[in-house]
Amino acid sequence: MSELLTCAEALAVIQTEVLRWDAPSRASEIVLLEDSLGRVLAQPLVADRDQPPFPRSTRDGFAVRSSDEGARTILGSVRAGQIWTGPALQQNQALEIMTGAPLPEGVDAVVMIEHVSIAEKTLHLDTGRTLTAGENIVPRAAEAHQGDVLLTAGTRLHAAEIALAASLGYATLKVYPQPRVAILATGDELVDVSQQPATHQIRNSNTHGLAALVRAYGGIPVPLPPVADTREALEAAIAQTGDADLLLLSGGVSAGKYDFVEPALLARGGKLFFTGVKMQPGKPVVFGQMPSQYVFGLPGNPISTQVTFLLLVAPLLRALGGEANPTPHFAQATLAQPVKTKPGLTRFLPARMTPALDRTTVTLTGWQGSGDLASNARANCYAVISPDRESLAAGETVTVLLR
Ligand code: AMP
Ligand code: MG
Repeated sequence: MSELLTCAEALAVIQTEVLRWDAPSRASEIVLLEDSLGRVLAQPLVADRDQPPFPRSTRDGFAVRSSDEGARTILGSVRAGQIWTGPALQQNQALEIMTGAPLPEGVDAVVMIEHVSIAEKTLHLDTGRTLTAGENIVPRAAEAHQGDVLLTAGTRLHAAEIALAASLGYATLKVYPQPRVAILATGDELVDVSQQPATHQIRNSNTHGLAALVRAYGGIPVPLPPVADTREALEAAIAQTGDADLLLLSGGVSAGKYDFVEPALLARGGKLFFTGVKMQPGKPVVFGQMPSQYVFGLPGNPISTQVTFLLLVAPLLRALGGEANPTPHFAQATLAQPVKTKPGLTRFLPARMTPALDRTTVTLTGWQGSGDLASNARANCYAVISPDRESLAAGETVTVLLR
């Protein structure tokens, strides 16, 4: 039995492989902007003009010269989508202006409608109201200059990035291809979800859980039929997966008599980076590289499978999809209850986080161990308990692994 890595060591091994991934040298494809959600940019997004392209009023009010004193004559009005084509404003002149409209020449401030009174086309500032140059104006190019790179290749596209791309005029985007992920469950006890299991059998839930996780983290799942617990069957099945970018096996990585994943991977030319991590659930997890792809042997217990995916597989899968420097999704929350565990392993306890404006709390869902899919489904994260802690008090801050 080889040595177990700590969680931090295992994450560092993954990170080394993530950094090895040379995204710019990869192939790319073009998608419509409306089809780009969740994809990864294979090109930089560049400002096609200054942003904003004109000095923009941020308020409804009056464009004025801040240094003028006394009443101002109102020359007219300009709203968003218009441009003032009248004469440049002179001393003690003002122009009615709406939010988003371009500022006319000759003025340097916008006074809000709430702070003035108007009588016979003459504008009076409220008593005591003073103006500073630049007030309520976003100057031209304050957000970006034409030619600026606003997002780099390797950025995953969500709403904020897509809105930016639209503002810059990108109707299509160059993105990286999605990695193909072969999913191979092992176990003589497994039956398909469409079959009625006998007493000694269980339904294959891992293939479905893993396919969903692969999709959620930007991959294309390629679920394969489950494999029987023999060396020959396993090696033959692994040999069929060479065109996938990543191979995920579930089950068969413990020290049992019918656990053949490690020897089968080695026999197929694999190199193993680690064969166990000091974590629970998930201790027997295996990570390595086959001649043409990365491979994980995930423990078969369904919660172990999902936790090891989120912690170790997800960052690598995101990198294979071209994302720059992905790391697991950790956050901090306040424990709503005391927690007791055995020290020695990093624990990932199914838990429910209740987000709040002031303080996000987390409560354990309580579980019967790493096969408890019902508890796992009631949870929305895992509370991470470090290996040197035996008990934590309510009110302590803990790390949570999000999913
Ligand atoms: P293993 O890692 O192969 O020793 O499996 C550990 C436990 O996980 C056993 O109780 C298995 O029945 C269960 N298990 C293994 N593979 C799956 C799967 N594909 N779906 C659901 N449970 C599984
Ligand atoms: Mg098994």
